[in-house]
Amino acid sequence: MKRTLLSLLVATSIAHADGLTSIAKTELNYEDIADAAAWINGDTQWLITTQEGDGFAIFDKDGKKITADNSKETAGADIRYGVQHGDKSIDVVAFGRPDDGAIGFYQITGNSDAAYRELGELAVDFDPEVVCLGKNSTTGELYVNASEGDNLLHQYKLQFDGKTISSILTKDGKAEPVRQINVGGEISGCVVDDQTRTLYIAEQDVGIWQYGAEPENIKDRVLLDVVVPLGHLKEVEGIDMLYRPDGKGYLVIADEGAGIVIYERDSGKYVNTIKAEGFEEHKGLALAPDAIWLMNSELDEPIYERIEAADFAKAAGITLDDAVSVGTLGATDLHLVSAQGETEAVDNKGDAADDSAIWVNPQDASQSLIIATDKKGGLLAYDLDGKQIQYLEEGRPNNVDIRQGVKLGEKTYDLAAATNRDANTVTLYHIVAGETPISKLTLTGDNTKDGELISAVDEVYGLCMFQAKDGTPYVFANGKNGVTEQWKISTGEAGLVGEKVRELKVGSQPEGCVTDDDSETLYVGEEDVAIWTFDAKESGSTEATLFAKVDGKNLVADVEGITLYAPQSGNKYLIASSQGNNSYSIYNVADKSYVGSFAIKGDDTAGLDGASDTDGVEVKAVALGDKYPQGLFIAQDFYNIDKDYAQEKQNFKFVGWDKIVESFGDKLK
Ligand code: CA
Ligand code: CA
Ligand code: CA
Ligand code: CA
Ligand code: CA
Ligand code: CA
Ligand code: CA
Repeated sequence: MKRTLLSLLVATSIAHADGLTSIAKTELNYEDIADAAAWINGDTQWLITTQEGDGFAIFDKDGKKITADNSKETAGADIRYGVQHGDKSIDVVAFGRPDDGAIGFYQITGNSDAAYRELGELAVDFDPEVVCLGKNSTTGELYVNASEGDNLLHQYKLQFDGKTISSILTKDGKAEPVRQINVGGEISGCVVDDQTRTLYIAEQDVGIWQYGAEPENIKDRVLLDVVVPLGHLKEVEGIDMLYRPDGKGYLVIADEGAGIVIYERDSGKYVNTIKAEGFEEHKGLALAPDAIWLMNSELDEPIYERIEAADFAKAAGITLDDAVSVGTLGATDLHLVSAQGETEAVDNKGDAADDSAIWVNPQDASQSLIIATDKKGGLLAYDLDGKQIQYLEEGRPNNVDIRQGVKLGEKTYDLAAATNRDANTVTLYHIVAGETPISKLTLTGDNTKDGELISAVDEVYGLCMFQAKDGTPYVFANGKNGVTEQWKISTGEAGLVGEKVRELKVGSQPEGCVTDDDSETLYVGEEDVAIWTFDAKESGSTEATLFAKVDGKNLVADVEGITLYAPQSGNKYLIASSQGNNSYSIYNVADKSYVGSFAIKGDDTAGLDGASDTDGVEVKAVALGDKYPQGLFIAQDFYNIDKDYAQEKQNFKFVGWDKIVESFGDKLK
């Protein structure tokens, strides 16, 4: 997710926040006060504060002390709800423990007599002060970020075994980060927006940065706002999120010089700066759905004060309705499956891996191959363990598809076709078992150049093959302008010939496509709009029929790769990469009904990462050895990391169809 620096205007006035006064104050004073986190469970609302020198304390919503623990120095505080092990689900608070070189975890129980329970600690080799938690709302995976010194933020991936929380990576008894972020200047706060998977980091004298929240979501950082005179900030101290029930949110900053600064999370737009009565400076805050807790450090012994969310919304000029807790955000209906395998990384950096196709070895299906594209360099062949067998370094192939046992003249081919963006052509290949399974075929005739078919679409993108009932092979290739060309492959005097037989059209950029040879139906994904079907026959109608709409829920733009699970008997399913929410949507072909969506998560014990931001997908309803008894699903993965969470070049992830079926229970049969 990228946002630009939207807030280039100087804050010219501070709203006079009349009536923005507190209704409760924490009853205990401390010499110093650090961060706080608000916890809510029905009517029970607690504030958990850290007191630098004096441990932590828990207050009820009237500011009355429930309990305090002075045994360890604490700094920074953040909460996540519903951390799970089996059917056990707990709410977790994390503190930095600078004196001990540790990050401590506690369960918040909601029971005043035993308000918290220790969940262990992460030993680190620095003194963590700023701490924030993040929970991937798709996979439920939990991360903690903690600052070292002035400018480094370490990120740890956590595991909960039912009793304690620990780091998934350790070395010599210390927790090993899965990611390190060098912010540049002094880090004064951080918060993770689980909904958009964004990590906001406050660099005290610079402004607010946005980062991808996890190692599998790292894009270039973006500056949301900066200090005066270019922006609205002066000295950022605290940062937190407010979530609205309609899926929108606000980012709220406590700025020592400026006041409380508010941004619309979704547009990145600056909203307002306000100050509460009786507060000279705003140095810290903790947000709950119905209350804003603000640190008041003007007193000799600072406290937190509670302001009604409705009063805050009014003063800030924002619509809050009934704000919701971060704890409700994990409610997705996604089915989760773990990656079972992955290919070796492609050769080129950046967004290079794109699409794949499975070649079934007719002699021994366990020796089948994955033919895949590196759209910056060539075509690859991998075995079912993901080992690279061949790299045919040539052109910039974008999408690839296969039809096997195709008779052309006297010969039978296992044909592969790819769109090649170097020359805006369609290239044909022949796949054979052996050390170099991919070999290029040379086409002849009017429409060819260097043995490739010259496409007239505006930049070739998607591609899929079709074999008609009479055995004739075709290639569909589409481009930016929405046009899909249909090419017929046949034999001529001098060899193989390609002939463009017709054009089909959708309104905007298509890419993913697949053909159901049985029903002679072509499916085309128009990235921002819908999946359409066409009659695939050369003589068929060119009219598009709606199959599934991009609705922002079941199918979230872009629609990328689409593929068909077509077993010998039983239901046929269309699967589309719903790139916008990192999942794969399944439709029953018979009645176009939406069955559900799944996501591919990592398997840390196997050293495998999950798949996200996927372009091409492929599935084959054929048993491919013991590991994939009901067939194999393949997804391109934007963020490939190794077992130690080091970034690698992109690759493709493997999941057995049986595991997908398992995750759906009876819904997918
Ligand atoms: Ca493909
Ligand atoms: Ca795209
Ligand atoms: Ca695309
Ligand atoms: Ca990944
Ligand atoms: Ca693509
Ligand atoms: Ca991509
Ligand atoms: Ca990997």
